[in-house]
Amino acid sequence: MENVVIGVDLGGTTTTLGAVTRSGEIRWRQTFDTRSAADFPAYIRQLSREIEAGRDQMGGEVVGIGVGAPAGNNRYGTVQAANLNWGGRVNFVEALSQHYDIPVSLDNDANATALGEMLFGAARSFRHFVLITLGTGLGSGIVVNGEVVSGSDGLAGEMGHICVDIDGRDCACGRKGCLETYVSANGLKRTVFHFLSQRTAPSVLREYSYNALTARQISEAATAGDPVALEAFDYTGRVLGLKLADAVAHTSPEAIILFGGLAGAGQLLMEPTARYLKQYMLFLYNPDIPLLPSALPHSDAAVLGAAALAWQKVEKTAHSLT
Ligand SMILES: [Zn+2]
Repeated sequence: MENVVIGVDLGGTTTTLGAVTRSGEIRWRQTFDTRSAADFPAYIRQLSREIEAGRDQMGGEVVGIGVGAPAGNNRYGTVQAANLNWGGRVNFVEALSQHYDIPVSLDNDANATALGEMLFGAARSFRHFVLITLGTGLGSGIVVNGEVVSGSDGLAGEMGHICVDIDGRDCACGRKGCLETYVSANGLKRTVFHFLSQRTAPSVLREYSYNALTARQISEAATAGDPVALEAFDYTGRVLGLKLADAVAHTSPEAIILFGGLAGAGQLLMEPTARYLKQYMLFLYNPDIPLLPSALPHSDAAVLGAAALAWQKVEKTAHSLT
């Protein structure tokens, strides 16, 4: 029987878990409502019950558990559960370790996705790479020597809040000009409205109110040749290419991987990002560094990322015992 780990994707509304083999096959899946537990101890009991109920269908011994969570901290094993009735920061790893005598590890979702790409996806042949997740915001995981860089306090690798323009757009973090105010679904929308005010070109995007416009509609307009939508994608790729060129100067990665809904815009974003990355790259570095789309199936990426955390911990633990 092939061993499995449990990958847990802790979301604000739904928790998804799966039993995953070392080759990335998902043997069993389950979901439950994260908010159905009255408090954090009740949540941990429910999670354990779900795992026990699935044991017979996993087809192997469970040898580790990995958890991917927004605001998860690898250094301390904690989750800052702002939207849940858990009383602020909780020590998830400690709580789960009281139920299971196997390695338990936890990290934020971008870092988990980076490890998922390394074990099961586009980064399988790399030990030095940067992963960018593009959704409503921008997340990142930086991998050096096959390890996610977590820094002194577990908070390293927050590229969403590196600065593009010190007098730039207001960010939800309270500062100005952060990368995710330009490069994200919301950033793209802000760019479209900027160009709509600057250009006289006809554009279908003029028919939308700010709150009604979505990144998907911008993608569709760009695909149909809309000049404002195309300029917005070009600008988004320019800002991202610039900051990725800066990122290369920090860790000299072998590749950069783009993951998430906005990366699903495909060549609309990849092409300008690759072009500007090459243009802005310091001469010392490989100007043709691969810029790759994620190779994880989108609906399973979070569980696979969490499972990758577990497999890495399991293998390190085994290594330290020999
Ligand atoms: Zn910010």
